[in-house]
Amino acid sequence: MRPDRLNPLFASADGLKGVGPGLSRPLEKLGLTRIRDFLYHLPDRFVSRRVLPALDEGAVGEQIIIELTPVEYRGGGSPRTPFRIMARDGAGNLCALVFFGRNAGWARKQLPLEESRWIAGRLDQFGQSLQIVHPETIGSDGAAAMGKVVEPVYPLSEGLTQGRLGAVIAQALTHVTELPEWIEPSLKKREGWPDWHEAMLAAHKGEDGKARDRLAYDELLANSLALMLVRASNRRAAGQVLRGDGRLRSRLSLPFALTGAQARAIAEIEGDLLQPSPMLRLLQGDVGSGKTVVALESMLIAVEAGAQAALLAPTEILARQHFETLRRMLAPTGVTIALLTGRDKGKAREGILMGLMDGSIQMVVGTHAIFQDAVVYKDLALVVIDEQHRFGVGQRLMLTQKGRRTPHCLAMTATPIPRTLTLAQYGEMDVSRLDELPPGRQAIDTRVVAQERLGDVAAALRRHFETGQQAYWVCPMVRESETADLAAAEARHADLAAIFGDDVVLVHGQMKPEAKDAAMERFSRNEAKLLVATTVIEVGVDVPNATLMVIEQAERFGLAQLHQLRGRVGRGSEKSVCLLLRGDTLSEVARERLALMRETQDGFRLAEEDLRLRGGGELLGTRQSGDTPFRVASLEQIQRLLPLAHDDARLLMERDGGLVGDRGEAARLLLYLFERDWGVQLLRGG
Ligand code: ADP
Ligand code: MG
Repeated sequence: MRPDRLNPLFASADGLKGVGPGLSRPLEKLGLTRIRDFLYHLPDRFVSRRVLPALDEGAVGEQIIIELTPVEYRGGGSPRTPFRIMARDGAGNLCALVFFGRNAGWARKQLPLEESRWIAGRLDQFGQSLQIVHPETIGSDGAAAMGKVVEPVYPLSEGLTQGRLGAVIAQALTHVTELPEWIEPSLKKREGWPDWHEAMLAAHKGEDGKARDRLAYDELLANSLALMLVRASNRRAAGQVLRGDGRLRSRLSLPFALTGAQARAIAEIEGDLLQPSPMLRLLQGDVGSGKTVVALESMLIAVEAGAQAALLAPTEILARQHFETLRRMLAPTGVTIALLTGRDKGKAREGILMGLMDGSIQMVVGTHAIFQDAVVYKDLALVVIDEQHRFGVGQRLMLTQKGRRTPHCLAMTATPIPRTLTLAQYGEMDVSRLDELPPGRQAIDTRVVAQERLGDVAAALRRHFETGQQAYWVCPMVRESETADLAAAEARHADLAAIFGDDVVLVHGQMKPEAKDAAMERFSRNEAKLLVATTVIEVGVDVPNATLMVIEQAERFGLAQLHQLRGRVGRGSEKSVCLLLRGDTLSEVARERLALMRETQDGFRLAEEDLRLRGGGELLGTRQSGDTPFRVASLEQIQRLLPLAHDDARLLMERDGGLVGDRGEAARLLLYLFERDWGVQLLRGG
């Protein structure tokens, strides 16, 4: 149970002014529902704005605040033409306030004609006239008196403005109270870090490295501590010795010989399964390195020993695909395997649940549905978690701890994360690495092509289809501009379908699962030659006949993500090609990143370089792109502070592993604050 004193921070934000039904969707999209979420929604940066008495005193490009009076509405009739509000300052200078997209209605409400308003934004020149694009309306309280104003810039989602989000966060900040200290006193002193409540307030007020570091450190400490608690509990837990006799494995008919790396990994796992304490092992291997076979052999050991094994996949698509692959390979062994996802209902589901309970089903593949309370296993002894980098590993491990005995756990990931991040995500797991690709793989020919040459790309696609091979076309999709990106992907699909006919299918994250599967099915059965997709194909999809990939606006993807995507091709024996389309204005860093993609196919090298290129420079660090379990700590902070947090957590565990002393109690608060309370729950169990 969450300690009472945290309740105010976990209260729903519904009670705050301005969080009406209209805003709840964009807020939820950012994961903001409780007071705590708003507090930890930290500014990306700060802008400093000058209050101007008249427009002609500002410089082009300057962030300004000024009092303006709207005098005329213009345009905005179609989605393509922006809506403009012509507005005048006190001296009679004219300026256009410009709104793109669906903001016209809102703008009219905020800026009625002939009523003066305080406006904030960047002063730009368009032809001969001045304009401010997507300005903020702000309160007039003393703005004129201040001269210069520093304002936080928060990450937004569509439908939100800085003004509205800022107002809600300001209210959330009034709920900040003092909390007992969980950081080691000498460390806190050495770093000059403020108390939690001071740090929180300061981080929203201006650029304050110490405040930001403290908050980031808290998150890293919570994570390290939780992972150590899981590990400690795992060491205490009763596992099950699994001794396979090889009778099923010998009947497997693999169409290839195992690589040395695969054989080594299997041997390591076999050794773990012979131990009485449960295995906690990470199998790291680049895309295409052949993790599935390692999983299969491990699961067969469990079945040979008379127990059951489960494979957990992150998506329905992947679960289905794994199920088909395993079923095919298992055919000569006679092992019974079932697929269980959230979509299975009624009789079919009942049948599977019965089979798992009485042991007649020996293996199951599925999504998180395989761990729901209704699912009871006769003797689940091994859980394999595939591609789980998208979830915190700790939470996944918790799922596995529900039986009488703790099952052995093998986590598999293709994300070649740098070593510092390995520590962050996996704590103290044992690691096996598949550092050798199966033989016969050809390098993927990667080229960077200007987006304007779309015509040439279409011609290349046509030639490609004539050889009977298939292709992927990937469109970017980022949280901040989801609606626009989705529209762009749909438009691109329509363009391509107009050229290549109806065997062009579209898959994106907002489709119904059934529709998504149907499209994927058509593609994997080679009934569709082109799959247009947002990044849902990133994880695990395996269609060897697809040997060409086009990635639009490649500069918007992280290197690790591009690497994952590119790994979808180059799976068969045919030569594969990856075309990275780039926009015409590229930053130096973006140029460097794309060049790296051309240069190397080594996932670990790309991951290290990505970290280097992203980490440098920015004062507040760079926001996470979802490939770490952290929301507060930046990549730079992770590298700098994680080793400290790790040592601090270890020290605390050594002194007070039960978290019962004063600092231990405070650390429990910390775990709840960052929702790593699965760590605390294990404490009680142990
Ligand atoms: P990943 O590690 O990305 O999950 P998969 O297990 O999907 O990789 O394997 C990728 C492809 O390589 C599959 O088509 C698989 O059949 C093939 N493969 C796996 N191991 C070997 C091997 N030792 N020799 C040849 N091909 C292999
Ligand atoms: Mg895989």
